[in-house]
Amino acid sequence: MSTAPAYVSTTNACKACMPLGACLAFKGVEGCVPFLHGSQGCATYMRRYLISHYREPVDIASSSLGEKQAIYGGGPNLKQGLVNVMNKYQAQAIGVATTCLTETIGDDVPGLVREFMGQAKVEGGASVPPVIAVSTPSFGGTHLQGFHRAVAALVDQLATAAGPPNGQVNLLPGLVSPADARYLKEVLADFGLTGVLLPDLSLTLDGVAKAEYELIPEGGTPLRDIAAMGSSAATIQLGCFAMPNPSAGQILASRFGVPLVSLNQPLGLRASDTLFQCLERHGGRPTPERHARERGQLLDAFVDGHKYLAGVKAVVYGEEDLVLGLCSFLAEVGVQVVLAASGGQSPDLAQAVAQASRGLAPQDPQVRSGVDFYQIGEEARALQPDILIGNSKGHALARQLRVPLLRVGFPIHDRFGAGRIQTLGYRGALSLLDVLINTLLKKRQADNPVGYGYL
Ligand code: SF4
Repeated sequence: MSTAPAYVSTTNACKACMPLGACLAFKGVEGCVPFLHGSQGCATYMRRYLISHYREPVDIASSSLGEKQAIYGGGPNLKQGLVNVMNKYQAQAIGVATTCLTETIGDDVPGLVREFMGQAKVEGGASVPPVIAVSTPSFGGTHLQGFHRAVAALVDQLATAAGPPNGQVNLLPGLVSPADARYLKEVLADFGLTGVLLPDLSLTLDGVAKAEYELIPEGGTPLRDIAAMGSSAATIQLGCFAMPNPSAGQILASRFGVPLVSLNQPLGLRASDTLFQCLERHGGRPTPERHARERGQLLDAFVDGHKYLAGVKAVVYGEEDLVLGLCSFLAEVGVQVVLAASGGQSPDLAQAVAQASRGLAPQDPQVRSGVDFYQIGEEARALQPDILIGNSKGHALARQLRVPLLRVGFPIHDRFGAGRIQTLGYRGALSLLDVLINTLLKKRQADNPVGYGYL
């Protein structure tokens, strides 16, 4: 009799492709065009995926490799593609991410880019923009890893300490929505801090309607600000998982001596408190009145909402930082997370979730990392949750379980306004709490034969 496990493949992955995450990070740099060194299909898939979530045009260039280049190497295509992007887009920067194909055939992309930069000329004599290369073998990781690798590559290849100390704060937010990016910039400004948010998706992926189509949308972190990051007073890095070693914050610390503060993403009351306390220290002033008021309103809503949430069981899934943040928030509002799952392989996730839940939740959530939706479904069926919380890829499972799905994170392909979902800070937690309770009430009302009008 065979002893092989009955199930060994991946079915409906709970993660996306690594270079897709890198493209997202590059989209948050002013004037930058993401470029995939690989086949055309990868770029098409990623464009489709991102456009469906953000509802914005997303151009991703490609070196369009075919069978011949798969055998002889993709260098000539890469160089020709870079020339085309420089001439057609007048890009201020190009972010090159590798794909499964070019990682497998072993193209030396940093070497090819160096060679190219030595010879490159732009039509009309314009200066040659920087080309930032990042290795993103999708078979080895997740979109979150690709995102963080690209941020580290941007800092590694562009940051300097050429100027005098500038007193600014580098804020590395991790993979957050454009709405959350806007919020973080607003918070920094309210503390009187000059900050560099890298990347900054607040406008590039949630832009304004224009009479004329622009090849490169406005917004994003200016290149001069990235260059000045080595002269900053501090770096605040939000999120603790899937970072390369060294991470962007570690590069700034080791190369330029910029002190690094590493925090969890501020999702929920306690994590938001930690961020605001950190900003109080760096800003040298107490939390501004309107944010203190938002904290009070959040606490008030916690009290009001508790009767709807006590005893509710949830399954949460997604990127590790989001899962940790959701578990922390749900423990604060009295929801028992019965399963916390991520497609990312992060052995530290279980301990972090237990730490965030202990003392508030009746029991530590079960945590699974490196799982797919088949495995999440197997466990979730036995646990009988009242709600699923995560991206839209859990839709089929929620239907099977006949429970509502609260959509947060990335991607959200079956609802509108994903870029404007805010979860961070006191304001984001309040918004999340409202949606959570209303999602549960809608289901309760729909299932009730009497159809009560007061709930
Ligand atoms: S997983 Fe690999 S082959 Fe598929 S889209 Fe991503 S980079 Fe391309």
